[in-house]
Amino acid sequence: MPELPDLTVFSENLSKQYVGKKIGDVSVLRTKPVLPMPTNQFTALLQEKFFQRIERRGKQLVFVIDDMNELWVHLMLHGEIYALQPHESVPAASCVVIGFQDKTRLAFADGTQWMKIKIRQPGQDPPAWASKGMDPLSKGFTVEYLTRCAATQRLGALKPFLMNQKLIGGIGNAFADEILWDAHLAPTRLAAKLIPEELPRLHMSIRNVLSNAVQEVRKRSHGGFTGEIRDFLSVHVGKGKPCPRCTTPVHFALVKGRGTYWCPRCQV
Ligand SMILES: [Zn+2]
Repeated sequence: MPELPDLTVFSENLSKQYVGKKIGDVSVLRTKPVLPMPTNQFTALLQEKFFQRIERRGKQLVFVIDDMNELWVHLMLHGEIYALQPHESVPAASCVVIGFQDKTRLAFADGTQWMKIKIRQPGQDPPAWASKGMDPLSKGFTVEYLTRCAATQRLGALKPFLMNQKLIGGIGNAFADEILWDAHLAPTRLAAKLIPEELPRLHMSIRNVLSNAVQEVRKRSHGGFTGEIRDFLSVHVGKGKPCPRCTTPVHFALVKGRGTYWCPRCQV
């Protein structure tokens, strides 16, 4: 599933191509992702408009429309966005296709139809499925905030804590592992039991790993907005691979049901 670094770069690349272009025809080919909004209302809210900006919020892509409505997209596990040139046919799994008046199109595709697409009108709450936690790269995400959140975890381990979208928006399975490796912390440690000097270290690792990953994905994305670029990861690469820091074979286990990689020697 795309995470904060991927989605940040997707939003940048989408912005370069689609901000300011006037929208033409909009088709809903599979209705599940846009429900409960009726198809005709969904298309009417987009036609003749343009995107003022496209940004990432949590794990969502938010396309701000010129009338201040917002198109919220959560790709979930399998959603993909394709840029289509006028001669290209629509991918078979397309759910929504937004056409522009220059004849290019954006296709939102997902064979499982798990992806979510919603138009949020001013004054409405964000969609129920949206991650509402603090953005870990925002100014408000301080050591104090992280400390307060960790204290609420009772028996919660660090891995699910970092992925809790109600507290922190945008971290998924792969980057939670990378952050904990960087912070020298085992994913099974209890978040509420971290000692005082470990919280600033975890905070710094969250910031550093995510901002570095944004740069790495940006370098390799070639303007695209689909797929996951993971060839620069340190520990979330495979069971038994040598830890890049101490060469101990990387351990793999399920932590709260999520496949988790960590170094049993230098993450404690
Ligand atoms: Zn190690």
